[in-house]
Amino acid sequence: MIAQVVLRDCVWQTNKIYDYLVPEQLQEKIREGQYVRVLFGKGNRAEVALVLNLKETSDSKYQLKTIDSLVEEEPVLNQEQLEILKFVVKRYACTYGSAMHQMVPALVTKRTGRSQLVVSLVSEELAREALESEAVGSIQQIRALEWLLDVEEMTLADLMQELSISRSPIDTLAKNGLVKIRSVKFTAEELQNKEKTEEELPEAIRSDITLNDEQQAAVDEVVNTEGKKEFLLFGVTGSGKTEVYLRITEQILKEGGSVLYLVPEISLTPQTVARIRAHFPTGIAVLHSRMTAKERYDSWKMIQRGEVNIVVGARSAVFAPIHNLKLIILDEEHDSSFKADTMLRYSARDVARFRANKAGIKLLLGSATPSVETFYAAKLGYIRLLTLKNRAVSGAVLPKVDIVDMQEEHAATNTSMFSRKLYKAMKDALSRGEQVMLLLNRRGFSQNVYCTSCRSMIRCPDCDVPMTLHTKTMGRHKLLICHYCGKVIPKPDTCPYCSSEYLAVRGDGVQKLEDWSSEDFPNARVIRMDQDTTSYRGAHEKILTAFRNHEADILVGTQMIAKGHDFPKVSVVGILGADSVLWQSDYRARERAFQLLAQISGRAGRGEVPGHVFIQTLSPDSEIYSFAATQDYERFFESEIKYREQLSYPPFKAIGGIMITHENEQACAMQANMVAGTFREMAANLGDDMMILGPCPAGIPRLMNRYRYQIVVRAKNKGMLSDGFAKLQQAYAGYGYSISTDIDAMW
Ligand code: ADP
Ligand code: ZN
Ligand code: ZN
Repeated sequence: MIAQVVLRDCVWQTNKIYDYLVPEQLQEKIREGQYVRVLFGKGNRAEVALVLNLKETSDSKYQLKTIDSLVEEEPVLNQEQLEILKFVVKRYACTYGSAMHQMVPALVTKRTGRSQLVVSLVSEELAREALESEAVGSIQQIRALEWLLDVEEMTLADLMQELSISRSPIDTLAKNGLVKIRSVKFTAEELQNKEKTEEELPEAIRSDITLNDEQQAAVDEVVNTEGKKEFLLFGVTGSGKTEVYLRITEQILKEGGSVLYLVPEISLTPQTVARIRAHFPTGIAVLHSRMTAKERYDSWKMIQRGEVNIVVGARSAVFAPIHNLKLIILDEEHDSSFKADTMLRYSARDVARFRANKAGIKLLLGSATPSVETFYAAKLGYIRLLTLKNRAVSGAVLPKVDIVDMQEEHAATNTSMFSRKLYKAMKDALSRGEQVMLLLNRRGFSQNVYCTSCRSMIRCPDCDVPMTLHTKTMGRHKLLICHYCGKVIPKPDTCPYCSSEYLAVRGDGVQKLEDWSSEDFPNARVIRMDQDTTSYRGAHEKILTAFRNHEADILVGTQMIAKGHDFPKVSVVGILGADSVLWQSDYRARERAFQLLAQISGRAGRGEVPGHVFIQTLSPDSEIYSFAATQDYERFFESEIKYREQLSYPPFKAIGGIMITHENEQACAMQANMVAGTFREMAANLGDDMMILGPCPAGIPRLMNRYRYQIVVRAKNKGMLSDGFAKLQQAYAGYGYSISTDIDAMW
């Protein structure tokens, strides 16, 4: 018997399927999807490999080696997942190793053979002291300490992945005696015997809602459709989409099937889970990135053993080994968090579509503001459109939206961040005991320090992007933070370039908005939510819960407050600085701006109180604002699809990207030129009208001490890009270049 295997820790040169002989004593036990030990290559290196396939004979012309042993009897991937693995490798032009890394939780991989490194605090006091003093040199170190104060310990790999940091800040913390890194060998028993800690859940809102006609029609349509089919539940915010998902889920469970329910990471709050648990008290597993490695492992094992029939999770849950899956729900399908921008740039929507198709089951997408691609597919009839036109709560209507021309405000010598209209509306709402939400699409003070003498902005020495001033202090100094790489320096007293003392602060940000709100409305309680206040586990839920419980009157935040939260007492929403989204240099800018505005407008007037939204802008005539003001998705779509077609943007053509990074700028430029040249030759042979632009420095030209060059590729479709990128990676296997590719690039 022959086993076809792929190496777990492969690089591009070894990204191949290898034939091995199955020894006599393993013939009975060997299964597809198992991890096995093999001796590999000339040096007979011991490697862990995955059995992809078993067969009787081999076509290999080499003398075959024999499999050494099983790592464990239980397969890590089932048949369905093996199919997904092959799909991911082909579609995203990645190695088997990186796909496996995504699909199998770290602990399952790690404990097979090796022990792993675990990071923990030396002591809590030391950590707190260090955070108070000037002892911690970078935001990565600060975040690592804050995180560990919260979770106590975590594997090194998970911590790095979680915080998107390299190993070096953690090593620095260890060197300074703040954390310890130790090697732990987890045994299967230790992992399995962990007592289940019941999640503390807020009181669930169990309701006995009678569906309205639109909702019922949507439920019936999905439930009564036989076999595989894709649906788009297109319903304005507050139209009761969640109720529809729950009813359909109920029906599937009754028939003995399982449901995978995917939501954006940020909407995966305890409230969301509680709402689902209220309907289905047992048989639910949750998977998301803020769980510790052990928690994730436990959930995954429960799913693998078939102990649950509902899996609720963020992006990566699309890979979960669910038994008897009959339906995949993907809520807020337009959300950019379904697209991974880490090593493997996959789209959970794509993978879900593949999975549903392959398994012959239903896929239900939902959104108030569907992505242009999805809605286009619905228009063409590939996806069945289910529409909810009305808000579900009787009496609740869409909010009134005012577009306020800020140029006029300035002309009328109003220098406040609030237009007169917004100010008055806030005042009235607060006096009636209602709540207000304010959104600004920038972080921190988003204040930059610049020199009035030489007119330079203080930039990150590593990344060359302007650094941002924060109110967080280091000793007596305010801090400047680079939001790309996280470098922190104390705000200097003089210009680093010309030594002038005349440094000025420019720009407005969420913190400033918080200050303005407190000043203008001294009796109101103001609470802020942005990435700086939500970096530790659970922070984000605490803020939202406090606001929902009316412990604050005004919620100030970045776009993260726009997503899927339900606040019945919010009657006024102010959107400041919407223009910055519209001005992004990306073909998706208009789509993003519309989605953001429509979603945040949808926050107002969800309960009994009617809502009023104010969009403050410098370009009040932009059609995007009027589409958003009327929440008119279809008109937006009609305009947008014409624009996309004219310029050959997706969904008419695919746009992909190749990124080359290097520590040295010249080397980076040179490699990028080589790669672009190679790819141009390949494209000519592929015989398609591929267009290759660049190379040129990327939008962020330098990140984490590495220079970045990008090549933009337009092709007929994503499949062409997948094939081309795989050939490109093969051609450069062994060169030591750092090349990453993306079949659906976003900038
Ligand atoms: P969406 O997900 O479309 O934004 P939700 O499902 O969150 O909307 O529903 C919004 C609100 O309307 C919720 O408070 C929900 O309980 C309520 N709701 C949903 N369907 C009905 C219904 N048929 N009758 C009354 N209230 C409903
Ligand atoms: Zn200067
Ligand atoms: Zn930087």
